[in-house]
Amino acid sequence: MTNSLERIFDKVKEGKRLTYEDGFELFASNDLLSLAQMADFVRQKKHPNNIVTYIIDRNINYTNVCVAKCSFCSFYRKIGDKESYVLSNEVIGQKIKELKEVGGYQILMQGGLNPALKMDFYTELFRFIKENYDVHIHALSPPEIHYLAKISRKTYKETLLILQEAGLDSVPGGGAEILTDRFRNEMTSGKCSADEWIDVMRNAHKIGMRTTATMMFGSIETIAERLEHLIRLRSLQDETNGFTAFIGWPMQPTHELAHLQEITAFEYLKTTAIARLMLDNFDNLQASWVTQGPKIGQISLKFGINDFGSLMMEENVVSSAGTSFHLTLDEIHRNIKEAGYIPKLRKMDYTLIN
Ligand code: SF4
Repeated sequence: MTNSLERIFDKVKEGKRLTYEDGFELFASNDLLSLAQMADFVRQKKHPNNIVTYIIDRNINYTNVCVAKCSFCSFYRKIGDKESYVLSNEVIGQKIKELKEVGGYQILMQGGLNPALKMDFYTELFRFIKENYDVHIHALSPPEIHYLAKISRKTYKETLLILQEAGLDSVPGGGAEILTDRFRNEMTSGKCSADEWIDVMRNAHKIGMRTTATMMFGSIETIAERLEHLIRLRSLQDETNGFTAFIGWPMQPTHELAHLQEITAFEYLKTTAIARLMLDNFDNLQASWVTQGPKIGQISLKFGINDFGSLMMEENVVSSAGTSFHLTLDEIHRNIKEAGYIPKLRKMDYTLIN
């Protein structure tokens, strides 16, 4: 280990917070195994029980109509496109029924920014779900909540309270990508800004909703922007303690971004370890085996990850972009056990399910 990494490791061992400059030094290092050692030290301190959790949920993309345009998204369709859709309550109900049959706990429901879907659509949908199924609704990422608030002429807090009353349990951290305006101006149009993403989450946390946080990396962002993103999440967590987990995944280049090369396993694992070190106030980090494959997902358990994510029954957004892996429950267990951990089923808030 170099002097520079040793100095940072001393800080980590003493429980001291890493600075932006420390983060830069970590990214400058190619000593992957030392980064893993440091991240694993933190992971073991936070999770001495040797447990790796996972969840059974179903990803339901209720509409693919979107008025925004993100250059990394192959999922959205414009209004009137022959491939555009909005799922009916019956179809959504059937998907939840199938999820419950395999012991599923939650639905992760996200979609495009569809101007035809007003507040009533969501409140009626959530009420329909809660009246008919015992399921946790983890739905509507900040861009969707921002857009719904805008077309409803309501504040984020008002919007979230209405949705919560109708049955929304928690908010997924999608649509964060990289939380800097330069990145968002270049890669997206018509989507919430970095400040707005943070503010939606702040409001969700303040009304008692837990949320997750994400980062999509490996495109046009700089290392400085990755660090700015992580530090913004860390600051909000200091303020609210509302994030249950962080999930980082590499961008899957679409045909529009074919000039960008997919990031390597080395870069994925390095960024994962650094996220664990920078996000000192996050308990849980989730593997991204859906994009990285189970082999890298398993190795990431030694890079600060303590959660194997989801046995997902559907994944339309990632699979639209070209890369998607699938694992059975047995395979999830085998990957966790062979790495030396005990697999445990969990809820959204990371309480364990027997
Ligand atoms: S990423 Fe989301 S907001 Fe962007 S185009 Fe796709 S569906 Fe729309």
